[in-house]
Amino acid sequence: MRTLITGATGRVGSRYAGQQLAHRQPIRVLVQTEDQAAAWWNRGAEVIVGDLCDTDAVKLAVTGVDAIVHLAAALDDYATTGLAEAARDAGVPRLVCVSTNLVSGPEHTMSFVTMDCLFCRIVSGEIPATLVRETDTTLAFRDIMPKAVSHILVIPKEHYADVATLAQADAKLASDVLETVAIVAEHEGLVADGFRVIFNTGEYAGQEVSHVHAHVLGGEPLGPMLAT
Ligand code: 5GP
Ligand code: ZN
Repeated sequence: MRTLITGATGRVGSRYAGQQLAHRQPIRVLVQTEDQAAAWWNRGAEVIVGDLCDTDAVKLAVTGVDAIVHLAAALDDYATTGLAEAARDAGVPRLVCVSTNLVSGPEHTMSFVTMDCLFCRIVSGEIPATLVRETDTTLAFRDIMPKAVSHILVIPKEHYADVATLAQADAKLASDVLETVAIVAEHEGLVADGFRVIFNTGEYAGQEVSHVHAHVLGGEPLGPMLAT
């Protein structure tokens, strides 16, 4: 079943679209920029570039899909009605509209700020990265400024500031991150000679990105643990 997903660059939409791809479900996304388009294309989605208020783009996007999942923070009247009309004209049998504000509830409203977070934007596909592995809950990608022959970052898709916060809030997700660390280390051929896993946490450790990430380093002797 081919599904059109709107809002795929949003917080809920990116997770939903990512999960569909992980389950090898064919998806099409409607995104606004060429960068977003390239990122979703690289992940295996069919892509239409355009705005929900652009009738031609919407017409193209709904043609030939079996279902539409419309994910928007608030369901804007104009865009949602336009999409529903295009779906009817194209004979799309299923249209699901979800207000993602309502999905998370007011207690999660704060997490909207996470779209300012660099790694959340990598999860959503808005910023490209060289992906090494993706699971339902985690993502592994190459560090943009590698400090060793192999330097991979492993993150949970959900935003937590650091490893201590993650471990206390969601032990299962913390273990998913470690499992991905282990699998990545194995696939990179780091296990036999050894490798290092670092979670910089807070100011003294020099943590620059406030989205928990494991650095997986190896492929050569790594020297002393701390700079001397
Ligand atoms: P921290 O200092 O927070 O432990 O590590 C942050 C890491 O993220 C650094 O090693 C840095 O090179 C990496 N990084 C920063 N920006 C980007 C980016 O846009 N893409 C990727 N792949 N890595 C990044
Ligand atoms: Zn984040």
